[in-house]
Amino acid sequence: MADLETHMSPFTAQTPATQTPTTLTIDGDAVTAEKTFDVINPATGETFATAPETTVEHVDAAFDAAARAFPDWRADEDARRATLRAMADAVDAAAGAVAPVLTAEQGKPLSESQRELRTAALWLRYYADLEREREVIRDDRDALVEVVRRPLGPVAAIAPWNFPITIGVAKVAPALRAGNTVVWKPSPFTPLSTLMLGEALRAVAPAGVLNVITGGGEIGAAMTAHPLTRKISFTGSTATGKKIAAAASADLKRLTLELGGNDAAIVLDDADPGRVAERLFATAFSNSGQVCVAPKRVYAARSVLPALVDALAERARAAKVGDGADPATELGPINNAPQRDRVAELVADALARGAVAAAGGKAIEGPGYFFEPTILTGVGDGVRIVDEEQFGPALPVIAFDDVEDALARANASTFGLGGSVWSGDADRATAVAARLESGMSWVNTHTALSAGQPFAGVKWSGLGVEGGLWGLDGFTDIKLIHRAR
Ligand code: NDP
Repeated sequence: MADLETHMSPFTAQTPATQTPTTLTIDGDAVTAEKTFDVINPATGETFATAPETTVEHVDAAFDAAARAFPDWRADEDARRATLRAMADAVDAAAGAVAPVLTAEQGKPLSESQRELRTAALWLRYYADLEREREVIRDDRDALVEVVRRPLGPVAAIAPWNFPITIGVAKVAPALRAGNTVVWKPSPFTPLSTLMLGEALRAVAPAGVLNVITGGGEIGAAMTAHPLTRKISFTGSTATGKKIAAAASADLKRLTLELGGNDAAIVLDDADPGRVAERLFATAFSNSGQVCVAPKRVYAARSVLPALVDALAERARAAKVGDGADPATELGPINNAPQRDRVAELVADALARGAVAAAGGKAIEGPGYFFEPTILTGVGDGVRIVDEEQFGPALPVIAFDDVEDALARANASTFGLGGSVWSGDADRATAVAARLESGMSWVNTHTALSAGQPFAGVKWSGLGVEGGLWGLDGFTDIKLIHRAR
């Protein structure tokens, strides 16, 4: 604790309240709301701005606008590509103003907010430029048979609070490119940066093509149950994902769910503990651990475990925790009080059950939702922090003696998002990684993502795929055209 306090930044953010937006984007217009809700800066625990509280009438207006815009938007692919490129330019132009607001409402370091906006522009350009080959499956004397992809209609895009912009744009970009129109809702914990992008994109996207609304309570449910919604693309918790799947079933709305994860990292006995610790720390503690596809439990060969834990603990103690607006900050706060309390509860439970904190172990006192970067040992399966998704800056390291046993324990989870294997022998590691029950497996790295790769989860980690052509196809239905000759 003493170590961490010295690393806490005394810097206080100049919260950019005066620049924050106050309007929804519906049918290309700035729309105000009668009521607002508070937005808290997690570095101070204080309200720094308010956001418009969408009503069910706003939801109706947004989907009506999206449905009206759909026929023209789906009709001209070249225009869609050009608009996506213009949207990318608009995101770049707005990034300087949006990034500090993203840091103020989310907590992450300003450099990471800037990177998040650059990544959003990159996704828009990627989908603007992506080529899809014509799919002729038969061309002979008797028939020309072709498979074409058709857009679905208005899409409900619902994003969480860990990466409000990149997760939102990773839905918006392929949905629009495929010819759909979108109603986009960020989490009420992080509404402002998305509202600002809505304002920036109003001038670029035709009216009704991209609508942005904010609010909590029944708004998300109203979007998923709306009769005009043809597809729901959701990222968030598994519990909410199941509710959304139930809501979609009544109308057979198409569905992509990117849900939680509890990724295992398996460190083999020939791995270099120092090198592994550096990369594991970078991926497990990025965004203060609030990443769906981050290492969340480490299974280490007993012979390398002591050196690995020492190196991880040293790295955790050296991490500079503070307000994301301070350029020196490496790890910001946890985004919200319920999430901070959940992480604290899971760590306290592990300690009460015999775990040892090699670094950290508790929340940092004072304003804001800060938590000590925590490395736990002496913990095993059956303890909540190993079995559940902690989604915060705390990492359990568990010993194993037999690789088969480690693999079985890694796979004994309802989750199946990502996973990794670390070794001096990449072939040996790849053979193990291929047997992980996960949508994505990495060797000697973790969370290596790009717009062109499939982002997929198995079991309770998701349904459907984002990214690349797979993600584009997720916003279409297949249609067969068979021409007899
Ligand atoms: P939720 O899944 O509850 O919320 C995510 C989004 O879904 C928000 O925009 C939320 O808005 C909306 N939402 C909630 N209920 C419904 C509904 N019935 N229909 C439609 N939309 C809905 O996540 P939390 O913020 O509560 O976080 C809880 C846990 O989720 C975390 O501890 C973490 O484990 C996990 N999580 C996983 C993420 C990931 O990337 N996979 C990201 C964030 C969290 P509103 O609250 O206004 O309804």
